[in-house]
Amino acid sequence: MEEDIIIVGSGASGIVVAKELAESGKGKDRDVVLLEAGPHAKTEDAVKYYDKILSEQGVEIARALCVGGTTLVTAGNGPRSLEHELKAIGIDLEQEFRELEGEIGIKPVPEDCYGGGTKKLVDASAELGYKAVPMPKVIDFDKCMSCRRKPCGDCVIGCPTDAKWTAASWIEEVTRQGVKVVPDTKVEKVLIENGSAVGVSANGKEFKSNLVILAAGAIETPKILLASGFTSDEVGKNLFIDTYVTVAGVMKGINFNEEGTMQALIADPSFKNFILSPHFARHSVEILNHKGYDASDKDVLGLMIKIKDEMSGVVHADGTIEKYMTDKDSVALLEGTIIATEILERAGAEPKSVCTTPLRGAHPGGTAAIGKIVNSNLETEIEGLFIADASVLPEAPGAPPMLTIMALAKRLGKRLGKE
Ligand SMILES: Cc1cc2nc3c(=O)[nH]c(=O)nc-3n(C[C@H](O)[C@H](O)[C@H](O)COP(=O)(O)OP(=O)(O)OC[C@H]3O[C@@H](n4cnc5c(N)ncnc54)[C@H](O)[C@@H]3O)c2cc1C
Repeated sequence: MEEDIIIVGSGASGIVVAKELAESGKGKDRDVVLLEAGPHAKTEDAVKYYDKILSEQGVEIARALCVGGTTLVTAGNGPRSLEHELKAIGIDLEQEFRELEGEIGIKPVPEDCYGGGTKKLVDASAELGYKAVPMPKVIDFDKCMSCRRKPCGDCVIGCPTDAKWTAASWIEEVTRQGVKVVPDTKVEKVLIENGSAVGVSANGKEFKSNLVILAAGAIETPKILLASGFTSDEVGKNLFIDTYVTVAGVMKGINFNEEGTMQALIADPSFKNFILSPHFARHSVEILNHKGYDASDKDVLGLMIKIKDEMSGVVHADGTIEKYMTDKDSVALLEGTIIATEILERAGAEPKSVCTTPLRGAHPGGTAAIGKIVNSNLETEIEGLFIADASVLPEAPGAPPMLTIMALAKRLGKRLGKE
């Protein structure tokens, strides 16, 4: 098969590159194909496409494998992150941020959408002198069940009303604009001849092209690079995941599990390398039951502590992952846990009940970082081979990364669209 441009992966980054190329390609005779390992999925069924990987050291890393990728299971948080860090290395994303914020309609959660548990946590934070603000969301609040005071809280398992933007929301549009979307097609490697990318192999077939853009996510992209013969020591290294735990305590009948997820951002300037956000974790109910508390999902209030972790992890060619906590990570997590416990108790959670869930991460990145594997234009050492996904992030954001990944992908799509 012969294409002009192949994009590998249809998640946050892949869809944006596809959309930019489709828009810039009007009138140009150019084939753009989006190869996606997973199947088409309904948003409300997102939970079926979760893939949870345990690192060798027992840290759980989550993603989703389907058309639209991990965006189907996000909490819908859309703040800017790493804006200043990227600017400091010559990448100014102001224009791309503004465009995406407009195209998706990103807005902070209206405070009258706050659920009862969120409000208690926000008020308790303010009483203790910690700054809390409404979270910017990729959510249409008119369609959001929680904002309409209906029980929900299903953002990360599948938005039932399509109120949340996902990459799948743009699939129809890019298809209409001429992009070929091919699901159930897992790319194994990039075909390289005389130092140039000439296509990919997927499902045992060869797809020839002039340009290849990897957007398979920070776990898969380094595996594809290694399978393609990349020998740099840096491929797959420098993995961060924005490690998080949820600290939770009993508050009878609060129904926090049915509120919108992570409606507020508690990121006080005094916090070093962590943020807090209201978060229900079903795992905390199991832990509380194990501790002897008679609590169900509706009786638990919780706060996520998400740290800006060190880039200490590795993705190996066989898919095994090393990821553990460094001393600095542990200090950030401990400081966050102490403050989260203080806020929970102030909000009225039963003091002795407070417990912490195991270590998890939902923002893998850094495994083909800018300055190491790609340059600031996201080009690799192989001519015609670019990387657009979370692997290029040069450091952990310690905050929702999706908008920044999309802004970088948009910048790349615009550049390639002009060529
Ligand atoms: C539970 C959860 C909640 C989250 N909430 C938020 C949030 O609220 N806000 C936020 O900013 N971020 C959030 N994130 C993180 C965010 O979703 C990711 O950072 C972002 O989606 C990464 O974009 P990406 O393009 O790198 O990868 P992905 O979006 O994961 O896309 C990669 C795509 O490539 C496909 N693929 C993989 N391997 C291959 C292959 N070999 N061949 C072809 N296709 C392949 C995958 O199926 C997928 O479609 C969350 C993550 C999780 C797990």
